[in-house]
Amino acid sequence: SVAGKTAIITGSTSGIGLGIAEEMAKAGVNVVLNSFTDSDEDHALAARIGKDHGVAARYIKADMSKAEDCRALIDQAGACDILVNNAGIQHVAGIEEFPTEKWDAIIAINLCSAFHTTAAALPMMRKAGWGRVINVASAHGLTASPYKSAYVAAKHGVVGLTKVTALETAQEPITANAICPGYVLTPLVEAQIPDTMKEYDMSREDVIKNVMLQRQPSKEFATVEQLGGTALYLCSDAAAQVTGTTISVDGGWTAL
Ligand code: NAD
Repeated sequence: SVAGKTAIITGSTSGIGLGIAEEMAKAGVNVVLNSFTDSDEDHALAARIGKDHGVAARYIKADMSKAEDCRALIDQAGACDILVNNAGIQHVAGIEEFPTEKWDAIIAINLCSAFHTTAAALPMMRKAGWGRVINVASAHGLTASPYKSAYVAAKHGVVGLTKVTALETAQEPITANAICPGYVLTPLVEAQIPDTMKEYDMSREDVIKNVMLQRQPSKEFATVEQLGGTALYLCSDAAAQVTGTTISVDGGWTAL
């Protein structure tokens, strides 16, 4: 059972990371929450999760755009049975207009951070004799959309890194996999709805169905609870031979 293990979830004060942390805690996993801020709310959130589920929960500040912060997060946590690389940002612009600093930030946070945390966590997993690396990629780790060059490149990179991590740990009780969500209604996506309603002169429902979920055949968002459940499955004994692969949670997007 996964109860009593320690999970570090990067970028977990909101959205998918928070959902995964919550489902892990519900299953008895001790959790380390992370973001780049260090507010009272960050620590209160960890305390609330710990109290609700009777697990050890704490918040550690670390900026996933910085290599040394990524490694320090793992070191400071002191244990890492389950590593969930989830922190990510987005920027939408054509290649010619794409700001170099946005490209660099997206590659650093969405891709490089997973390399640094994995490098720091693998020795701990080897010492503990068990480990799970779960990378939150995206449907954009498998397919592309225009105007998302950095994001699509980073997410394809995450899928590649996942495969290499799996091969380097193949003969050990460690697995590495990527979860590829389609659209999930997180604060990040929610914030785009009002502007899109204005742009297209559409109702909220039409924006969701005909713009956002245009490529998601189910016409429904995936939920953060479902992604938490997927992460827990990857930690289960049933998934011990599941490694180096991707699991799509995208309502059929990548079947198109
Ligand atoms: P979100 O904005 O709700 O959450 C992102 C989290 O990352 C926040 O806690 C934020 O504080 C943190 N973060 C941002 N920059 C950071 C940094 N430099 N250092 C540390 N933490 C940082 O976003 P989300 O929608 O929950 O996305 C989470 C992950 O899921 C991302 O990797 C994203 O690409 C991926 N994803 C999201 C969707 C979706 O539809 N929402 C779909 C596919 C993949």
